[in-house]
Amino acid sequence: MSETKAKIKVDNLVKNYGDNAVLKGINLEVKNNEVVVIIGPSGSGKSTLLRTLNKLEEPTGGSIVVDGYDIAKPDTDINKVRENIGMVFQHFNLFNNLTVGENITLAPLELKKEAPKQATEHAHSLLQMVGLESKFDARVQSLSGGQQQRVAIARALAMKPDVMLFDEPTSALDPEMVGDVLAVMKDLAKQGMTMVVVTHEMGFAKEVADRVIFVDDGQILEEGTPDELFGHPKHPRLQDFLNKIL
Ligand code: ADP
Ligand code: MG
Repeated sequence: MSETKAKIKVDNLVKNYGDNAVLKGINLEVKNNEVVVIIGPSGSGKSTLLRTLNKLEEPTGGSIVVDGYDIAKPDTDINKVRENIGMVFQHFNLFNNLTVGENITLAPLELKKEAPKQATEHAHSLLQMVGLESKFDARVQSLSGGQQQRVAIARALAMKPDVMLFDEPTSALDPEMVGDVLAVMKDLAKQGMTMVVVTHEMGFAKEVADRVIFVDDGQILEEGTPDELFGHPKHPRLQDFLNKIL
C-alpha cells in the first residue's frame, strides 16, 4: 500500500436534520498515516462530520469511502465499519458498571470473538501504553476524567482500528489532565495511526497535525498545514475564529 493512498475519501457529504442543513457539501481526503485536525466554531458541524464517518449518523447525500469501502451505502455492515474506525468522545462514554478491563475487552470478546486470554493480554498492553497498567480491575468511577479518557482511547484501540476519530477529547477535562491525554494521542500519531481530531488544542495541532481544516457553517472554508492556517489565515472567518480562541 502506498503511503499517499487515501484512507478516507469524502465527496460532497451533505447532512440535514429536517430543514437544518448541517453539512453542506464536504470534500475531504485523509491519507494513510495522516493526522488531520478539524477546528471551527461551536455548531459548525464538526461532530456531525465525525459521526457520519463512523456511521453514527446517516448522511443525507454524498459518499464516504473508507479503505475502498463505501460506508454511506444503506446496506453497509455497520459493525464492520465501526471495527475499523475507533472513536473517542468528549464525555468518554465508558460503561460505568464495568471495570476498566471489562470496558476494554468487551467489544473484542463480543464482536470479534477473541479468546479471553488474548483479549486480556491486549488490554493489559494497551493500559500500559496509556499509562494505566495498574487499573485493569479498577471501577471506572474511581478514575479521574483524564484517566477515564485514556481508558476510552485504550478501549477504542482494542478493536485494532485503522483510523481513530477524536471529538474534542480534552474539552471536558480539568486543565491539569489535558496533557496526559494529548501525550497518548501524540504517541499514537508517532506510531503512524491515521487520525481525525476535532480539538481546540492549538499546541497539539501545531505539533502533530499534518493538515488543519477549518469548518464553518457546514463547509470547509480553509485547509492547509498548521503553519499556513495559524500563521497566515486567509479567510476572514478563520481570522476571526483564531482571534477569539488564541
Ligand atoms: P459542532 O460539533 O461543530 O459544535 P454539531 O455537529 O454538533 O456542531 O452540530 C451542528 C448543527 O447540527 C447544530 O446546529 C446542531 O444543533 C445540529 N444537530 C446536531 N446533532 C443533531 C441531531 N441529532 N438532531 C438535530 N440537530 C442536530
Ligand atoms: Mg461538537
